[in-house]
Amino acid sequence: MIYLRLKNVRNAKEIIDMSSYVIKKPYEFIGNWRKIFNNDNPIDLEIGMGKGDFIIEMAKKNKNVNYIGVEMFDSVIVRAVQKLEGEDLKNLKLIRMDATLIDKVFKKEIRNIYLNFSDPWPKKRHAKRRLTSHLFLEKYDYIFEGEKNIIQKTDNIELFSYSIVSLSTYGYILNKVSLDLHGSNCDDNVMTEYEKRFCNKGIKICMLCANKKN
Ligand code: SAM
Repeated sequence: MIYLRLKNVRNAKEIIDMSSYVIKKPYEFIGNWRKIFNNDNPIDLEIGMGKGDFIIEMAKKNKNVNYIGVEMFDSVIVRAVQKLEGEDLKNLKLIRMDATLIDKVFKKEIRNIYLNFSDPWPKKRHAKRRLTSHLFLEKYDYIFEGEKNIIQKTDNIELFSYSIVSLSTYGYILNKVSLDLHGSNCDDNVMTEYEKRFCNKGIKICMLCANKKN
């Protein structure tokens, strides 16, 4: 499946800058993200949140969890910002950044990391860019508060196989592995934009939950 980028949105930067959901200098809050939310609730992170359907719905459904969505492109995150106009979700923040710098933004404060339909980077020479490569798992070690929990969904079987091997060889235990999420019991599943698109085309969704104790 080809992953398409959105065209540039006019005034995207201005729209993002005006939004109270978007944290402009995230590095300043390292180790102190609970202060942003003004509570002690757990913090869950989605890396590569795209246009935000998943993280916005999760924040609406689970008011006692704080959510942070990370997305690297203005042209994409702006769509989430537009969806949030008129909403008042106190448990949601967004960051426009490249996840390669994630360990400069969080320090021992994340409970779950969601990786939804991450770019598969099919070429072997780009394997380190996959969000489940050991390079990223090392960064995640630094940001998890206690037990490490990674939840991945993808339509891409090559990325999924790679992730299973990468997570297992890094010490994660796979608690759940499904090659057809929607063919099994997934009543509490929250769909992402890409997931909706793939499901409409009859494409099967792979899903895993991986856990690593300290
Ligand atoms: N999660 C959304 C969904 O499931 O509908 C979007 C999936 S889209 C294929 C992958 C998204 O991850 C893109 O919006 C892309 O810009 C973002 N992304 C890829 N690499 C990233 C990185 N290193 N840091 C932050 N965002 C990234």
